[in-house]
Amino acid sequence: MHTRLSEEDLAFQSEVRAFLNEAWTKELAATCNNRATMKEGLVEWQRRLYKQGWMAPHWPVEHGGTDWSVTQSFIYNLERASAGAPEAIPFGVTMVASVIIAYGNDEQKARFLPRILKSEDWWCQGYSEPGAGSDLASLKTRAELEGDEYVINGSKIWTTYAQYADWIFCLVRTDSSGRKQEGITFLLIDMNTPGVTVRPIDTIDGFHHLNEVHFDNVRVPVANRIGEEGKGWTYAKSLLVHERLSIAEVADSKRALAQLREEARQEVNGGTSLLQDPLFAKRLTDIEIDLMALEFTELRALASIAEGKEPGPESSLLKLQGTEIQQAIQELRMDVAAYYSGTLQGELSAEALGHDYADSAQKSYFRGRASSIYGGSNEVQKNITAKYVLGL
Ligand SMILES: Cc1cc2nc3c(=O)[nH]c(=O)nc-3n(C[C@H](O)[C@H](O)[C@H](O)COP(=O)(O)OP(=O)(O)OC[C@H]3O[C@@H](n4cnc5c(N)ncnc54)[C@H](O)[C@@H]3O)c2cc1C
Repeated sequence: MHTRLSEEDLAFQSEVRAFLNEAWTKELAATCNNRATMKEGLVEWQRRLYKQGWMAPHWPVEHGGTDWSVTQSFIYNLERASAGAPEAIPFGVTMVASVIIAYGNDEQKARFLPRILKSEDWWCQGYSEPGAGSDLASLKTRAELEGDEYVINGSKIWTTYAQYADWIFCLVRTDSSGRKQEGITFLLIDMNTPGVTVRPIDTIDGFHHLNEVHFDNVRVPVANRIGEEGKGWTYAKSLLVHERLSIAEVADSKRALAQLREEARQEVNGGTSLLQDPLFAKRLTDIEIDLMALEFTELRALASIAEGKEPGPESSLLKLQGTEIQQAIQELRMDVAAYYSGTLQGELSAEALGHDYADSAQKSYFRGRASSIYGGSNEVQKNITAKYVLGL
């Protein structure tokens, strides 16, 4: 954004920079970036955000939100990304919290929201099933009411970080007699309940983040149901909108692109750089233009949220474009790794890009293949955009 900031916004920007400078230390970054200590690092980071009062900027103030203006949210996010600090893990603070705030009762708000703010509970998302991904409403995990408990049987799949989770928010079927969107109920399930089993799924990036979660006669108190029985589809869809907004990661892509431009500027044998290759330079510039356009779309969405409107189907557009841009950046990083790897023994030292550049480029490339699938595949986002944004 190139508009001039007000005095007040400049002061806010300095405050954010000072906080990041102090709280996002090199040691903490190393702990978060090491897969073995990632959870511990992220929880510590989120606790630092909580102490600052910035764990849940988008929440209503009475629950611990910040009441930032659109510009302030934008500044915070830009500064956070350019410092290389992560967003809070979305499953608790962005996803289930949005449903608890909108549809939960007072007891549920008092029980769960403070623990999410303080990162005392790690949440995961139990939506997808082996036979229900894009066609989520065809989910089959059963919940049968027995007294004041539901008894759950079935399986969820692709459950990110279930191995760390204390709680899972789940869509379960309480009735199969009507349309498939009816009879779905939204439940909060303690992962320590007897009958819950988590099994890892190996992925191409070699990092354990996905799991299967199985439920075998798992007993869940009715008090853990959000809203009405059978109305879970409405709550589930509102959560997906928040999920998709969080996947766009515009500020993080801006940082990644700026870094990439710097990397490709490095000269090697004979004084040439990858940036001098017109094809590479064009691809880089095309992505920068797309990202600038997406940034304005994001600002429009933020402005409408600030006016009190619920984010709508435009979140699909943001998810679609945001993940295409992320993948395009990851592909260019692979090109950077390839171009300079042949010359690492030459005039460009390995230190110039970092010894593990190629390794990290390929890991993020492989991991990034998934971003056009999770949060609802990009093909499905095109369908939603065609129907609800373009009215086709
Ligand atoms: C890394 C990763 C993390 C994930 N984390 C979670 C999680 O934490 N919790 C959770 O519940 N789920 C999670 N998921 C699951 C994710 O939401 C689903 O994978 C996704 O919704 C697609 O469903 P599917 O895999 O069953 O594919 P399918 O629905 O079988 O789709 C297969 C292909 O068909 C296309 N397709 C399907 N229907 C249509 C249509 N109507 N029009 C055009 N094309 C169509 C799809 O785009 C896709 O290319 C995760 C997935 C990944 C990859």
